[in-house]
Amino acid sequence: MLVTLFGAAREVTGSCYYLESNKTRILVDCGLFQGTTLAHSKNFEPFGFDVSKLDAVVVTHAHLDHVGRLPVLVKNGFKGRIFLTPPTAKLTQLVLEDAAEIMDEEFQRSYTPKLYSNEDVAGVVSLFKTIDDNSPIKIKDLKVTYHNAGHIFGSSFLSIEAGDGSRAVFSGDLGNVNTPLLQPKDALTMTDTLFIESTYGNRIHENESTRAELLKKTIVETINKKGVLMIPSFAIERTQEILFELNHFVENKLMPPVDIYLDSPMAIKASAIFDQFPKYYNREALRLIAAGDKLFEFPGLKETLSREDSKTINQAPRPKVIIAGSGMMNGGRILHHLVRYLGDKNSTVLIIGYQAEGTLGRRLYTGEKHVTVLSERIDVKAKITSIGAYSAHADQRMLLDWIKTATKLPKKIYCTHGEEAASAALATRIKDEMEVTADVPRFGETIEI
Ligand SMILES: [Zn+2]
Repeated sequence: MLVTLFGAAREVTGSCYYLESNKTRILVDCGLFQGTTLAHSKNFEPFGFDVSKLDAVVVTHAHLDHVGRLPVLVKNGFKGRIFLTPPTAKLTQLVLEDAAEIMDEEFQRSYTPKLYSNEDVAGVVSLFKTIDDNSPIKIKDLKVTYHNAGHIFGSSFLSIEAGDGSRAVFSGDLGNVNTPLLQPKDALTMTDTLFIESTYGNRIHENESTRAELLKKTIVETINKKGVLMIPSFAIERTQEILFELNHFVENKLMPPVDIYLDSPMAIKASAIFDQFPKYYNREALRLIAAGDKLFEFPGLKETLSREDSKTINQAPRPKVIIAGSGMMNGGRILHHLVRYLGDKNSTVLIIGYQAEGTLGRRLYTGEKHVTVLSERIDVKAKITSIGAYSAHADQRMLLDWIKTATKLPKKIYCTHGEEAASAALATRIKDEMEVTADVPRFGETIEI
């Protein structure tokens, strides 16, 4: 088979592999290129393959940089099937509808061209075919098997075998270890060729054993100062993990009572999707559910779905904790809270995720003292702090360890889905530790397997 990279090559976003065998043409993921806005010019460029000849798309997980261009594919006449796990199907619909809504708002506000509409998203959903187990699916002469990637709820890595016996594994994104809620990732299956993500290919995370302690300490500090703790959070996975930790603190009385606001409609909807698919939870989460606990409900938690509900947070007495999107503070309801409390020395912003270059989150993270939020100039007096260990991605050590879980090492490994330096660093380590050929492919490069 032949694999051509049409995204996430020497960069993190836009995951899209075009795979051709003797009889079949499929895509592995069809992701959005993401910068500071959704209107990245690369998303408007034509695809590098004939859309009408595609048989199917196999999807690894519901992040926008893996599914965000599916509606463009449908808009261009794609009529094949889209394979994905049941939670990925529901979460993908949620994130695509949200993306279409944001594109519509950006168009209304500033005539930013719209990549697609909600009708295109409905077209995508109508092609979904869900895969609920590890038994291989047949797409003409290809056999595709889904395995747990432990990255976000429902996430998978895929092993693909062609009729001529050639094999490749596509890692999708690979999860961190000992993650709240998620089952650990499956071992790497036997393959000739591996395409592995390298988001953190040159980094090692801080130790995850202290992350819950740090979270609790930050909350208790806020309570003692009668301040406001703002936690900017990604709506899918990260928010549920934080809620899961808070559920544990509150129900075991490990911290004083405090009002906690979940001010993110998308996160509220995502939590409801998680609850529909309990078999994707890890043992600890299942044990709590079996004991009658609701993972995302506990005394003091208030969900504010509507805008009106959201405004009531302002009047609520201190101390209080607010969890809101977006995770990188480049939009969403968190901005309204930042305008109110960034200038307050008793308040805190707790950063728990990656902050991309150019975002407000990055500026606060790097210690800028004067920022503009929603056109207001603010002197930052609130404490800015972070916990790195809630990352949804494996770090360099975990990526290397995962490769070694295979009963026989792959012959050739391609490092993708990372900044060039991160991918190159991982490739070097693979060559040093395993004596396996490793490479960092370019956009548009075709690899014969
Ligand atoms: Zn991802």
